[in-house]
Amino acid sequence: MKRRTFIKKTSISGLACTLPAIYPILPNTDYSVLELMGKEEIELFGEGINLRKEAYEAFLNMKKSAYSDGFDIKMVSSFRDYYRQEAIWERKYLRYTEDNDMQPLDAIDKIIEYSTIPGTSRHHWGTDIDIINGYANVSENVLDPQKFEQGGPFEAFKLWLDENSEKFGFYLVYTNEPKRRGFKYEPWHYSYAPISIPMLTAFRKINILKLLQKEEFLGSEHFTTGFLKTYLQDNILDINQKLL
Ligand SMILES: [Zn+2]
Repeated sequence: MKRRTFIKKTSISGLACTLPAIYPILPNTDYSVLELMGKEEIELFGEGINLRKEAYEAFLNMKKSAYSDGFDIKMVSSFRDYYRQEAIWERKYLRYTEDNDMQPLDAIDKIIEYSTIPGTSRHHWGTDIDIINGYANVSENVLDPQKFEQGGPFEAFKLWLDENSEKFGFYLVYTNEPKRRGFKYEPWHYSYAPISIPMLTAFRKINILKLLQKEEFLGSEHFTTGFLKTYLQDNILDINQKLL
């Protein structure tokens, strides 16, 4: 064997031994499994904005444009890592099972009306945002669908977003189409499509079912393969078709 080939081969096999088998770097994508699951520290931009660079720049342009039309886009939530999502999940799980005496499976169904299983949130990607109009005088429970509807404090803001957000690359994720399953209508949740579309494509390539079955947080012992398959189909993939 020529020395060059030998070195190449040994370095490849050496690498294979050091990488944990369940978290491979994906071929043909720039995103690792850890990154897609919110377990990796990624570079985020903008104080109080916390998005990937390109999404951050697009967000600023949208904010400027909204501002000149009389709206002050206020970020309620953007990047959130796995551990933050785990804390949200466990807090809700305890509240539903202990305070409200719900059965574990009912509690899980209730949580996934609005909250994701840790490791599957689009907020892990640094591309997705929950936004409101800071000018509207709403103090509590700002993420309420009714507030974005006719007569609500965010009605005009929502109409502005319908008209303009896609020009800046931001698309509504959980639409109010009656046949859509999964998460309920979230008029506040937008995604920066130029990055989140390839990230979702990468996410679909990983064996998320297997990865989730290895996780341990409150309630996760009740996940069956059937439940997780339905969850992925409905909650992750039954979204605005333009984001697929
Ligand atoms: Zn959201």
